[in-house]
Amino acid sequence: MIPIVEVAKGIFRIGPLETFARTPNTSPYLVVGEERAAIMEIGEEGQVPALLQAIRHIGVGYDRIAYFISSHIHLHHVAGLNLLLHQLPQAKMVAHQRAVPHLVEPTRLNEGTFAVWGAGCPSLSPVPEDRIWGVAGGEIIDLGGRQLEIIDATGHAPHHLAIFDRLTRALFPGDAVGTIRLGKERARPDILPPLFDIERAIETLRRLRALKPSVLFLFGYGGVSHSPDKTLQWGEQDVRAIEGIVRKGMRQKVGSQEIGRRVRAYYDQIGTREPTEDEEVVVPEGGPQGAGAPIGMCAYLHREDPSLEMPQ
Ligand SMILES: [Zn+2]
Repeated sequence: MIPIVEVAKGIFRIGPLETFARTPNTSPYLVVGEERAAIMEIGEEGQVPALLQAIRHIGVGYDRIAYFISSHIHLHHVAGLNLLLHQLPQAKMVAHQRAVPHLVEPTRLNEGTFAVWGAGCPSLSPVPEDRIWGVAGGEIIDLGGRQLEIIDATGHAPHHLAIFDRLTRALFPGDAVGTIRLGKERARPDILPPLFDIERAIETLRRLRALKPSVLFLFGYGGVSHSPDKTLQWGEQDVRAIEGIVRKGMRQKVGSQEIGRRVRAYYDQIGTREPTEDEEVVVPEGGPQGAGAPIGMCAYLHREDPSLEMPQ
């Protein structure tokens, strides 16, 4: 039986559903308006049957589903897209306009994902362009009696969005605040993606905070924060603190394993360390340079100041 909870008026959390081994289990949401409905975040292909079954169970006809809206296109968020587009032929995919070329021609997206996650990771086949609505932030999606506002929320990735439900003031921040375990309100920043941008991530956290959301609904683990202001404030504090740790480690040239260890010690201190996380991160052979450290943040600092070399 798939867990389904109406977490706010007309917002149903589905799951968490199991994902590829290296990504957290995830929860898409069904947001229901008077005329139309939207699926918030998609998931992997193997999760689509459970998602469709849950929608039937909730009692919303497939013909009312007008949109899939993904915060971004890291593959555990969107690899099920083609199957879903096939099953719901009237629905459109809403994605950041910078993501559209990578959905239409996903070779680089697939290669980049494989380089980080290795064999068995999700992949995507080309998505028909006429099924995608590229947005940039500021667009309003009207579901009938309910409006969803698209917010530019780059930082975790250069093509990241957040979605704000004006009716309940619920915010779907995607990975912009990181991941939150159920029962916790402090997020663990997701600073791993290679194009992570510290300053944009912080600017996004501030902008999301200014929206004064009532609640945050996350995709990873089906996390939720009922204290969004605190969560977003912590987010900024934690990104800055980790930046300091990583910058110092790179300056000292201590290597990626040691930088990773220091960052995990910080997670210990703030209570967001993953229970399954080992002391030593084993880097698969041929794995990315600097793996073990928060690679995206290292890459950002290296781009800003080439004298800080990528850790080995
Ligand atoms: Zn991501």
